[in-house]
Amino acid sequence: MDTVQLASRLQAIRSVLEQAAQTGGYPAPRLIAVTKNHPVEEILPLRGLGVEDIGENRVQETVAKLPALRENFRIHLIGRLQSNKVKYIIEDVASIQSVDRLSLAREIDRQANRVGRVVPVLVQVSPAGEPQKGGLPPEELRDFLRQVSELDGLRVKGLMAIMPNTEDEPYLDGLFAGMRRLFEQVRAEGIAGIDMDELSMGMSHDYLLAARHGATMVRIGTALLGARTAPAGTTRQEDA
Ligand SMILES: *Cc1c(COP(=O)(O)O)cnc(C)c1O
Repeated sequence: MDTVQLASRLQAIRSVLEQAAQTGGYPAPRLIAVTKNHPVEEILPLRGLGVEDIGENRVQETVAKLPALRENFRIHLIGRLQSNKVKYIIEDVASIQSVDRLSLAREIDRQANRVGRVVPVLVQVSPAGEPQKGGLPPEELRDFLRQVSELDGLRVKGLMAIMPNTEDEPYLDGLFAGMRRLFEQVRAEGIAGIDMDELSMGMSHDYLLAARHGATMVRIGTALLGARTAPAGTTRQEDA
């Protein structure tokens, strides 16, 4: 895709985000360009178009692309993450958005302490109970946040969710509204040692709804960069 086409897609997405957020009475969310499966030559032009944040979901691919990307973007790890791979990305990621189990939180804490960082993380919630996508059941969220708040190598900044891949708009609308409600409830509870500033939800097929329901970050890949399939032997939701 040439830069003119990329710029026009970006502008179209931004304008939808702004309008939808305004309809819901929220500020427009930050765009995270999901660049997994795309080579760095396709990613770098985004910087000139004002994109500052990118999302990757596999550690091996992230590490390979880091030298070319790290100076230009904040890199967020958005995919399911195996604890034993945390050490490879701990120094370079702007956030890890898929924290959904204590063993992973503890390993992030351990590695962050080793390199002297406090790593921003989002806790992934599973709004529709799809275990294969990762995420905690909402009813386990508070306990989990209290446990993670005791680890000093990471700082919870908010919540992340992946919605079901469905065209059923009323259903999705309800799930997004529920996530925003949960986010606000937890924020109001003021759990010590955590922040509730970010709500990362919305992808290519549902970012309008996400923006309308107060996402602070949307993660958009295909709608911006086009479809690219994962390398053989991997799938979209596979462990990073
Ligand atoms: C791939 C991915 C996205 C982006 O998906 P698109 O449908 O291509 O916009 C968002 N979030 C996560 C966790 C992903 O793995």
